[in-house]
Amino acid sequence: MRLVLVPTPIGNLEDITLRALRVLKEAEVVACEDTRRTGILLRHYGISKPTLRLDQHTVGRARELLAGYSYVAYATDAGTPGISDPGAELVALGLKEGWQVEVLPGPTALIVALVASGLPTARFAFEGFLPQKASERRERLKGIATGRTVVLYEAPHRLRETLRDLIQLYGPDHPVAVARELSKLHEEVFRGSLGEALAHFDQPRGEFVLVLAPRPDLEPPTPDVQELLERLRAQGLRGKALVRALVE
Ligand code: SAM
Repeated sequence: MRLVLVPTPIGNLEDITLRALRVLKEAEVVACEDTRRTGILLRHYGISKPTLRLDQHTVGRARELLAGYSYVAYATDAGTPGISDPGAELVALGLKEGWQVEVLPGPTALIVALVASGLPTARFAFEGFLPQKASERRERLKGIATGRTVVLYEAPHRLRETLRDLIQLYGPDHPVAVARELSKLHEEVFRGSLGEALAHFDQPRGEFVLVLAPRPDLEPPTPDVQELLERLRAQGLRGKALVRALVE
């Protein structure tokens, strides 16, 4: 079976490639997160094609749902399937099943926000959505890669709480970019400090990406391996026991 992951617009319907449209036209069926939403896109481009729902609740049954098809296009609600949506699970399953899996290049909110932020792009960490539970979110934030630019997705109703948690970690003056409704009518890229962002988004609406500037001083120090080796040797460790202690 040939499975092609098709990136779709994150807002503006013009943001779709010629190749993506060709695959949507050629495939036997378009599997998608939401048949209504993908149906709007297909109609916009005059593509008449059967759709099949494959969302986070049904992706585990993809093998049986897609049985009998030889060419399937897969689209999620917006952007590149596989980024914070059921696409990644489908790819893993497809590879396990020996399907021919192809991924088309296309729009994804994290890259647009990262570049628009004006913050360093050479090294960055994408952390996706933070956990919804406050305690788990704070725990996750302790482990994020503060030494690099960090990109996060956030739902509007959790934006302010997340900004408050980030202020606890980075401090209120830390630079951030908050990208809202990218490529849509009310697109906005707010650039300022975390404290200013909290004041600015008093009633957040729409879709958000947060981009945080690096703060290498917050990274836990990496141990000096040579120094550690000497210390372990001095304790009498040799051979496999030494290697085991080093790894631990
Ligand atoms: N697969 C998608 C991608 O490639 O970006 C992401 C899917 S994830 C379920 C949806 C999240 O992406 C939203 O909650 C928001 O954080 C971000 N997002 C998607 N479209 C956006 C847009 N137009 N503006 C800002 N953020 C957006």
